[in-house]
Amino acid sequence: MLKGKNALITGSTSGIGLGMARALATEGCGIMMNGFGDADAIEGLRSRLAAEHGVKVAYNRADMTRPAEITALVTETVARLGSLDILINCAGIQHTAPVEAFPAEKWDAILAINLSSSFHTIQHALPHMKGKGWGRIINIASVHGLVASVNKVAYVTAKHGLVGLTKVVALETAGLGITCNAICPGWTRTELIEPQIIARAEALSVDIEEGGRALLAEKQPSRQFVSTEQLGQLAVFLCSSAADQITGTPIPIDGGWTAQ
Ligand code: NAD
Repeated sequence: MLKGKNALITGSTSGIGLGMARALATEGCGIMMNGFGDADAIEGLRSRLAAEHGVKVAYNRADMTRPAEITALVTETVARLGSLDILINCAGIQHTAPVEAFPAEKWDAILAINLSSSFHTIQHALPHMKGKGWGRIINIASVHGLVASVNKVAYVTAKHGLVGLTKVVALETAGLGITCNAICPGWTRTELIEPQIIARAEALSVDIEEGGRALLAEKQPSRQFVSTEQLGQLAVFLCSSAADQITGTPIPIDGGWTAQ
């Protein structure tokens, strides 16, 4: 379905971003991977993705806190893959602490990676999409773009901001063949939430699996984790022509979390 299209996916060396890369590559889409991690492991992921799906897969280590590296990432995507049709902003980090104890440097880093990086990628990607009269921008927000939780002041602020950014970009691109939406996942078992599962397990003196079940029980009525495959399939749907008129929309995929 996405043969001939190329996607830049920030934060795609693990978790949800990697799930998106797999889902899009399965549909024939070329991929520019980005994110941190062990260089050999990333090269293994890159080469396997390319070989399994017969698509171009490149990798650029741009740090999402550095606007100049983000500019270079967009330029390299077009140079290496030939176009930039789909942009998925997925890079993100988390830190939990009450407001009064929240380290200022963590606030700055979360705002930069989880919010400002998407402004920079979108700003540089849009001219390429407008030039072709087609584009898809998918911002990976969170249930925390819609509702709040304690101890997540920077994350909730950044994700609410990302939903706002999504709406403005949708309005400015309406009618141009470009859509911009936000996916709002609930608990998805990735490295990002592992520290929270461990902390919950320790607080309850239970094992890790029981800690995960306790996190789910508190917020996610289905009591099941969202999978990276389910999120990847939602991204594929948003890239389809069936989704041409879906724009400016935050889409929860959260086992009922935000229905409460
Ligand atoms: P993850 O830790 O597996 O993935 C995060 C990705 O971002 C990794 O590829 C990492 O290398 C990359 N990254 C981190 N800092 C970076 C930087 N400075 N520059 C470039 N890349 C950087 O976690 P995940 O859960 O897959 O998170 C992906 C996105 O999904 C995040 O934006 C997160 O907020 C969002 N999200 C996750 C959940 C969840 O429950 N896991 C729920 C809702 C939203």
